[in-house]
Amino acid sequence: MKTQVRGKVNFIKHTILGVMFGAISFTANAHVGTHLEGGEASIVTLKLRDYTVGLRHLISEGYDIAGVDVEHHTVDVVIGKGVMAELRALELGSIVNTKNIDPQVAPDSGYTTYTELTAILNDYRSRFPGIVSVQSIGKSHEGRDIWAVKISDNVEVEENEPVVFFNAMHHAREVMTTEIALDIIDQLTNSYASNSRTQNWVNSNAIWVVPMVNPDGNNKVWTANNMWRKNTREGYGVDINRNYPYAWGTCNGSSGSSYSDTYRGPSAGSEPETQAMMSLVGRIKPVLSISYHSYSELVIYPYGCDGEHTPDRETIEGVGRQLASRLPKDGSSGSYDPGTSWELLYAVDGGDIDWYYNEHHVLPYVIEVNSTSQGFQPPFSWRQKTVEKNRAGWSFMIDRLSQSGVRAHVSVGGKLADAGTVTLTSVSQGAQSTDAGRVYTVKADGTFHIVVEPGMYKLTVAAGGQSETREIMVGGERRDLVFNL
Ligand SMILES: [Zn+2]
Repeated sequence: MKTQVRGKVNFIKHTILGVMFGAISFTANAHVGTHLEGGEASIVTLKLRDYTVGLRHLISEGYDIAGVDVEHHTVDVVIGKGVMAELRALELGSIVNTKNIDPQVAPDSGYTTYTELTAILNDYRSRFPGIVSVQSIGKSHEGRDIWAVKISDNVEVEENEPVVFFNAMHHAREVMTTEIALDIIDQLTNSYASNSRTQNWVNSNAIWVVPMVNPDGNNKVWTANNMWRKNTREGYGVDINRNYPYAWGTCNGSSGSSYSDTYRGPSAGSEPETQAMMSLVGRIKPVLSISYHSYSELVIYPYGCDGEHTPDRETIEGVGRQLASRLPKDGSSGSYDPGTSWELLYAVDGGDIDWYYNEHHVLPYVIEVNSTSQGFQPPFSWRQKTVEKNRAGWSFMIDRLSQSGVRAHVSVGGKLADAGTVTLTSVSQGAQSTDAGRVYTVKADGTFHIVVEPGMYKLTVAAGGQSETREIMVGGERRDLVFNL
């Protein structure tokens, strides 16, 4: 199959369509990466003179940014035929490498296709029926089921356990991320019978994995264009990870042009893939999550708009630093760099993690796996090393569920509360907590779970017109409490 031809006629057609659908303002960028002209493209590595300014300039010009090397201030840009002169003319730095690629070559056959994924997940379900359930959380534009896997003991029963959530492949070309998600499932199931740590994880928590958020895009990667990033809406596609409703389209962290690789879509949460993820997260309400992307060797946390931090900054940064420190870089010494996207890269709006945090108080992280030298689709022989390395990251997140934090069951008049608020104030002596006075909600199952750093806290739980205040000490282990209001 042919890649999409990016020409004048096509552009005009799209502009008219865009106007007809009342959508969008178009910027006429001829160099948008995933709409590559037949078979000729390059990944250009630029060493930026000013890293921050250079990245933002590239974004504003509509370039497709594949990845960065934060340490060496280089950026990889995917460009189509004849765009090199235009890129040079921006004078943002020096070109240190140019790799010609053929977008029509399928990835290394070892990587998992959607069809294979479906079979693999069914296989886990039949081999481990007691601890694995597989369900469709919705259908993609083209009608493919988006699969979610739940791993827990008594897997068919809702046990009000702490939830951790892993997902992969919002972006179609990031094929290694699905391999990491599959490795999580593989490790948790195959070592369940023999490994007491795994048993403890699976028995006391609910672990959810969505290995391929974007099956349509992935199909396109295999059949037409290995640099495809978005879903396949109307052919041009939407960047699912710019489509979530929180701060959608508000801070130049996405594009209004359907040609752009960061096109945010016609409206907030417009995409079926986004909606499937939102409804899953709303249902399972994770405590912690990791969204896997590639590449750049980063750990990213909310918020995505320039200058913004969450009110839980202290906790989010603390967990983020610990997560990053467990992931050694491949190309150089040191470990992954933690930060918000605007600190490490550029502004992002409509990203999944901002919505998870803002809407459901998840502490959510993006991990950008793989270095610039590995790129999106390194030879499949890299897989084993990559998935093994990433075990330290997701293991830490599962362990973190039982570490410093507060979890409680709340009843009103003997029945589990189905709503309520929790106000948490740090009263630690000497600590300047930024988490003071935060308000959380009691989930519909009568529980709440708040991850905090160790310290003294004042906790007020209010539900059903009743309330109770306690002062509690949180150490290295989670405090499990019961409130009968
Ligand atoms: Zn990505």
